[in-house]
Amino acid sequence: MNTAGDDAEKAASPPARSRTGPAGRWWRTGLPLVVTLLLVAGVVVVVAGVHGRSADSAARNTTGAGSGEGGRRSNNGLPDGVETVRDLPLLADGAAVPALGCELPEFSTEPRRLSEYYLAELDCLEKAWAPALAEVGIPFLKVNLRLDDEPETACGALPPSDEATGLYCHTDSTIYLPRARILDSLGEVEQAHLATVAHEYGHHVQRMAGVLDVVNAELADYEEAGPEDRALNRKVELQANCFAGMFLAAAGGNGSVSTATAEAAVADFENWVDSETHGSSATQLHWAEAGYAARDTSACDTWNGDLGSTD
Ligand SMILES: [Zn+2]
Repeated sequence: MNTAGDDAEKAASPPARSRTGPAGRWWRTGLPLVVTLLLVAGVVVVVAGVHGRSADSAARNTTGAGSGEGGRRSNNGLPDGVETVRDLPLLADGAAVPALGCELPEFSTEPRRLSEYYLAELDCLEKAWAPALAEVGIPFLKVNLRLDDEPETACGALPPSDEATGLYCHTDSTIYLPRARILDSLGEVEQAHLATVAHEYGHHVQRMAGVLDVVNAELADYEEAGPEDRALNRKVELQANCFAGMFLAAAGGNGSVSTATAEAAVADFENWVDSETHGSSATQLHWAEAGYAARDTSACDTWNGDLGSTD
């Protein structure tokens, strides 16, 4: 795993009860400079705690989307037999994460210690998810982490800070949590950081499982920022909350993460705002709780569940 710089400012104001969150569109694949193929576009941000409105600057996929012959969608290079997210083994078959003990260092916003905390959580996330993915035959891929404040990403420039706190870039499999933004948004509230990293890693799970490929292909059919586009975005974000809830259930009560801390991290999803791209606070909490309760990906089928209102 890569970590980025240690030069960051120190933290942090107390967290506001409602946060503006992570930018919402980064998981959209961003291939910013590769114009020819315009494969997926943009990146959506995914970050934790906060979410953004459309942070897209991306190109949209124009390659093969659309309806193919016979009225069927062409599958845009997706694996045979996969036309929708629900055809993917992770959702079609379901996979559980085993209980495991995470040994996280004492939480601190001091730059080096914050980095160590995140890396320890990512190690634990990998230990939780690797067997679940193996169970359904999905190859594992390491994630990268960058905490520097002005990173260059394979998904293009960071959205403005009022639109994105953190994000996941599909193209370089990297979680970006620019330290100043994160501390400004999450302050020193450990469970908010715990939840945010778990959510971002949820996007990485979606990337490994093929969810983001399917979604990016499908997005090409829709008007950017139109109703279908926004609904699809919410399905992705809410599923990442559900995957985060699964992890928190697996880690809570074991190792250094107490049940109370895990439950507080789940509850923290109610503080996430940005209903436009992520759903209402109640809906965001609902899906985190669903994953926490079931600890199985079959409970995270946001393609067949209540997306709630965006109010
Ligand atoms: Zn997200």
